[in-house]
Amino acid sequence: MLGIGIDIGGTNTKLVVVNRAGKLLAGERFRTEASKGPAFFIKRLGVIVAGFRRDYGRQLVSIGIGAAGDVDPERGILRFSPNLAWHSVKIAGPLEKLTGLPCAMENDANMAAWGAYEIDLARKTEDILTLTLGTGIGSGLILGGKLYHGAMGSAGEAGHLKIEPKGRLCHCGGRGCLEAYCGSYAIMARARELIKNEGAFVKKFAPPGRERFNTMCLTNAAAAGHAAARRVWREMGHNLGTGLAGLILVLNPGCVVLTGGVSRARKWFLPALKKVLNTQQICTPFKKVKIRISDNADLGSYGAALFGLERGLK
Ligand SMILES: [Zn+2]
Repeated sequence: MLGIGIDIGGTNTKLVVVNRAGKLLAGERFRTEASKGPAFFIKRLGVIVAGFRRDYGRQLVSIGIGAAGDVDPERGILRFSPNLAWHSVKIAGPLEKLTGLPCAMENDANMAAWGAYEIDLARKTEDILTLTLGTGIGSGLILGGKLYHGAMGSAGEAGHLKIEPKGRLCHCGGRGCLEAYCGSYAIMARARELIKNEGAFVKKFAPPGRERFNTMCLTNAAAAGHAAARRVWREMGHNLGTGLAGLILVLNPGCVVLTGGVSRARKWFLPALKKVLNTQQICTPFKKVKIRISDNADLGSYGAALFGLERGLK
């Protein structure tokens, strides 16, 4: 039995075909081009799914979709997505009609959380918090082996947890959010404050052909011993630790999984993060919690495929 996983992001949309064990059999990706509208987008998904069906036939039994934004999982509607600029778009229903396969839809971080639960932890830990570290910060919760939705399906907006009253301005319009300190845009804004000669910095630390002032460049600089770059990552680790400590106190998870592009800088932010966790006064929930970095860069689409299979089998 095989499942299709779809990860809808602001820039790219990824599709995978995986089996129950999470093994990849096929994959596709295309530019989301949200400005062309949802109908055009869904048609495009339909064409790719039809191709998968030609190759795998009846082995394909379900579709799982993770979308960047606020999702109503009951009705398969993307309520709002700032990245796609779509409001109240039905996705699961029309795709189900087009393909004849049952579709389950969730927020993309929820699907990454499911992927972490099934793939990284092989279902051995049942209480997991997953944070996706990218431009923004998403999060998903697996509690007691089940995806936790909350009352409205929007549980896990950890990126907008306030860690600093009247702090930095967040993309959501609020101030002091975790994301406004630990999202890649915020990390690079802080780097700009501390690193004056951006041009020379990029020239020295960016990989050839990819000369941009981004987190990868900042990680390379930290590895080369650049003091300001190391300071930016240390501060980010401290801030992420502050947000995480609050979440761990509330949830007492067995494992926290960090994923997304920014998690690749683990070496430079984890020590400061762990220091915050190790110096909490109420220490019981911090004693056993494992902090894990997922190396699967496509956890969202894999998780979506496995979640769709799980739903389809019930
Ligand atoms: Zn915010």
